[in-house]
Amino acid sequence: MRGFVMRLQDFRNPELAKKLVGAIHRALPADPIRRQFTVMEVCGGQTHTIYKYRLRELLPKNLRLISGPGCPVCVTPIRYIDKAVSLALDHGCTVYTFGDLMRVPGTAMSLERAAAEGGDIRAVYSPFHAMAAAASSDQETVFLGIGFETTMPPVVLPIVQAVQKGLTNFSVLLSGKRVPPVLSAVLQSPRLEVNGFITPGHVTAVIGTEPYAPLCKKYNVPMAVGGFEPLDLLAAILNLVEQFAVGTHENANAYTRAVPRLGNPKAQALMDEVLVPIDDELRGLGVLPEAGFAIRDKYAAFDADKRFEIKTDSHEPEGCACGEVLCGVIEPEACPLFRTVCNPDSPVGSCMVSAEGACNAAYLYD
Ligand code: SF4
Repeated sequence: MRGFVMRLQDFRNPELAKKLVGAIHRALPADPIRRQFTVMEVCGGQTHTIYKYRLRELLPKNLRLISGPGCPVCVTPIRYIDKAVSLALDHGCTVYTFGDLMRVPGTAMSLERAAAEGGDIRAVYSPFHAMAAAASSDQETVFLGIGFETTMPPVVLPIVQAVQKGLTNFSVLLSGKRVPPVLSAVLQSPRLEVNGFITPGHVTAVIGTEPYAPLCKKYNVPMAVGGFEPLDLLAAILNLVEQFAVGTHENANAYTRAVPRLGNPKAQALMDEVLVPIDDELRGLGVLPEAGFAIRDKYAAFDADKRFEIKTDSHEPEGCACGEVLCGVIEPEACPLFRTVCNPDSPVGSCMVSAEGACNAAYLYD
């Protein structure tokens, strides 16, 4: 049999998109009592595709698509930025970070500003750059490890390797988050009723589909793993709409080309070795049960939180509604600062900075 190779543009095919949109319109039940169905996507990459390809405009009027807390930079608490600034300016560390964290405003300043004030802060594409730098000097070197389960394996592998190399000047300031507990918190929120979730493709490629199953069952809510191209997302929405029609609450996978049911067992084992779930703070959502990761005590020497006494006095910027945007309670345009004071050149909140943030997407594409 000749191989059939799908190309990226195949997942942006307008004719196939029209067919999927038609199927969504036909499948959506005309519910005389509850006419509105709300679907939340929980991934900044999906948020940008939805805005960029104007997918909301293609959907039936009684199907509302909202963005949830899926942008890793956006959910990182402001206190974390303040700690990173302190590590650079007060503790004299060399701080390595993914680039999109540089411009997130902290209470007093961003990392970009701290670098201008003399902090040694460097943007890198990989945590391994930070570890390699630590291996070639005596300088205290800290990597800013933020993100959901997708990012945790490459954040913690350098810790394991640092142990093997006997490094004593490398540590990670961790702000790792877990998607299933975050979905659980959204489902318990009295401020919002979500009828279905598009679950994040990259995270699910690591953790597998099984961790969502108890939530589907407990809250009678369907979920479908979604990819990042327009057809991936329309396929996930079609799956959810078909479930609305027949009243099922399945944990489905509409992104099978990348997401196996069991995820990535090697990555999971690595995370289990170094990390332990903890109650943790997400920006706008507060402290949620088991929503984050901490570095296990056996690796405490590589935990910047334990290695340094970091003092902060953190508070959110006045008027910023990032918390409500992240919970899906309001659209970015409903924030009084949107476009007036807050824009990508002069961001007030994290949702406007990150390329995965809902405010950034709304600013760029709406
Ligand atoms: S527009 Fe700016 S200030 Fe308002 S919620 Fe978004 S990031 Fe925060």
